[in-house]
Order: sequence, then structure tokens, then C-alpha cells
Amino acid sequence: MKVVEPAYDILDDYFKEGRILEQIERCGRVCYKSEDKISAESAVPFIKGIIKRGHESVLEMANIVLEVSVDGESIMHKFFERIPRFCQADKLERRRYLLSGNPRSFRDLARGHKDLKLVKAMMRVLTEVYPVLFEDLAPARGWIPQDGVSVRVLGPEEVDGLPVEYLIKHRNLLVHFTINRAVSHELVRHRVASYLQESQRYCRYGESKFGGEVAFVKPCFFEHGSHEYDLWQKAMEESEKIYLELLKTSSPQAARTVLPNSCKTEIMVHATLAEWSHILKLRASKAADPSMREIMLMLLPEMASRFPAIFSPIRELLSKD
Ligand SMILES: Cc1cc2nc3c(=O)[nH]c(=O)nc-3n(C[C@H](O)[C@H](O)[C@H](O)COP(=O)(O)OP(=O)(O)OC[C@H]3O[C@@H](n4cnc5c(N)ncnc54)[C@H](O)[C@@H]3O)c2cc1C
Repeated sequence: MKVVEPAYDILDDYFKEGRILEQIERCGRVCYKSEDKISAESAVPFIKGIIKRGHESVLEMANIVLEVSVDGESIMHKFFERIPRFCQADKLERRRYLLSGNPRSFRDLARGHKDLKLVKAMMRVLTEVYPVLFEDLAPARGWIPQDGVSVRVLGPEEVDGLPVEYLIKHRNLLVHFTINRAVSHELVRHRVASYLQESQRYCRYGESKFGGEVAFVKPCFFEHGSHEYDLWQKAMEESEKIYLELLKTSSPQAARTVLPNSCKTEIMVHATLAEWSHILKLRASKAADPSMREIMLMLLPEMASRFPAIFSPIRELLSKD
């Protein structure tokens, strides 16, 4: 058995470099632990395969921010009447709006609301900029240009230059966590976020790529060398032994039923800065599970250094906790 420390990695370079296809692939491959298959050309075929299989939650792992200008407000009113789910919208000034969402949310708009002028105009631009993400949804003759609406994709620097009130709603951040299965289960209770997680159904930890062993996260509760730690280690060794024995005759999804909460998992979390702020307030506080608090207290200072206006007040608040 292998014992690992909990860890996090903020994966923001993809966003800053405008490499959203690569970001989506990187996240999707966490499920199957097939990151070794990533190459300079692998993102497009990977995404095509994802779309073909209908595994569209993978398409939630990137965010696109649009600036929309309209000749008349009725174009926007008709859009808002549909109460678009999973999109963020703000009115910047008269007839000028910010609209953001992940590729899946725009795909759902294209499927469910393609009668709307705004949706047609957005899809035309999105399909032009990111063909692999949207081209399968285009009508036979393509999306027709719409009078009275103009749509523009904002670049990363423009998004980061938004005033805080907009930044917090339209800027997403992707974090890769290595945590135990109990903590990941708590994390996914936060509903206004997107997740992709290492699959115990597909990963066969007996294989050489996993070192032929199961990885567990060091519990924050027990001192290494203490009686309690020894008991914990004994339990992990026993569960690993039975898991590996079961794998000889059973699938990983069957064998995993004996794996405990301490089992290591990797999970990608993609959320707006507003949702991160909510998560950190709840999960870095003294009321939180100590294992959850441990990783969130590691993450918070880096969040505060990247986005001080949003996360420094949370650090201050929690220091009085
Ligand atoms: C200390 C602690 C103890 C906990 N104990 C338990 C427990 O014993 N049992 C248990 O089941 N859970 C427990 N939880 C989990 C908790 O109940 C929430 O499910 C979890 O924290 C997600 O947070 P949230 O609901 O505030 O918001 P999120 O899911 O992060 O959503 C963010 C915000 O979006 C809005 N929102 C999202 N979805 C909806 C919706 N469907 N309807 C209306 N508004 C919505 C709300 O304004 C919400 O604040 C605990 C959490 C903490 C921090």
C-alpha cells in the first residue's frame, strides 16, 4: 500500500493561455487516469469521442465569457424569459451584456432554445471559434447571422480585467485535488460547480501503472507511529489485500466495494470564484471536517494571493474563527 499526503494544484495556465480544449481533455482523463495519453494533437479527438458517447459533463470543465451587444433590449428579454440554467449574465450598460457559461451550457441552449435570435448569434460565433465543441449542433446550412445582435468571446486578459463584481461571477477556477474519498464526497455536495473524479469503476489498482497497489491518504487524526495510526494502517493493509484478491476474479467496480474512506482519489473541481468563496467559507472553518479543513486551509492562501479582493477577507474572517 502507498500512503500519500493530501494535495491541491490550481490549474489556471490553460485558462490564461486560452487552451480550453486541452483543459477539458486534462480533466476528462482524470476519470480514467489516462493522462499519459495526452499529446499535442490528442485534445480534439478526445473531445469528439466524449461528444459521441454523450459524456457531456466533461464539457463543463471550461468557461467561455461573451460580450453581447444588442440593438434593442427585447432580444435579451426573450432570452431571460427562458430562465437559462447554468449561465451567468450581467448587464454592463444599456444594450451591452456579459454572458458566461461552460460549453455544455451553451450546447443545451443550442438544443433547447435555437428559435431565439440571441442563441443563434451566440452559436454562430462559438462554432466559429471552437468548432470541435459545437459543430455537431449546427443546422445544415450553418448558423445564420442575426441582425441587431453582436457577440464576442472575451480573451483571458479581458476576463481578468473585469471589475470584481463581474469577475467573481464570470471567472472560473479549476483545482485538482488529491484527497480521500470521504472528503471528495463532502466536496461534491457543493452543487454550483462541476466535477470530474478518478473512477474506481475503471481504475484497476492492481495494474502496474498504479504500482500494483492501492493508495491511501494519510489521516490527519493520527500521529505516525501512534497506536491509532498502526490500527489504521492495519485496516488499510487488510482492505488492500482483499481488494487485490477480489480483482483476480472480479471487475474493479466489484472489488472496490471493500475500499475504505481513506482511499486516495483525484478530483477536478471547476467553479466560479463566487462558489469557491462559498466553499472556502464553509470548508475552511473550524466547524468543517478536519480532513476537509486541512486541504482548504492549504488552498486558501494561494487563492488569496491570486484574487486578494475576493479571498483575503475570508482569510481574515477565518482567523477570528
Ligand atoms: C460543517 C458542515 C456540516 C455538514 N453536515 C452535514 C450533514 O450532517 N448531513 C448532510 O447531508 N450534509 C451536511 N453538510 C453539507 C451541507 O448540508 C451542504 O450540502 C454543503 O455544504 C453544500 O453547501 P450549500 O448547500 O451551502 O451550497 P452549494 O451547493 O455550494 O450551493 C451554493 C449556493 O447556491 C444556492 N443553491 C444551490 N442549490 C440550491 C437549491 N437546490 N435550492 C436553492 N438554492 C440552491 C444556495 O444559495 C447555496 O448557498 C455539512 C456541511 C458543513 C460545512
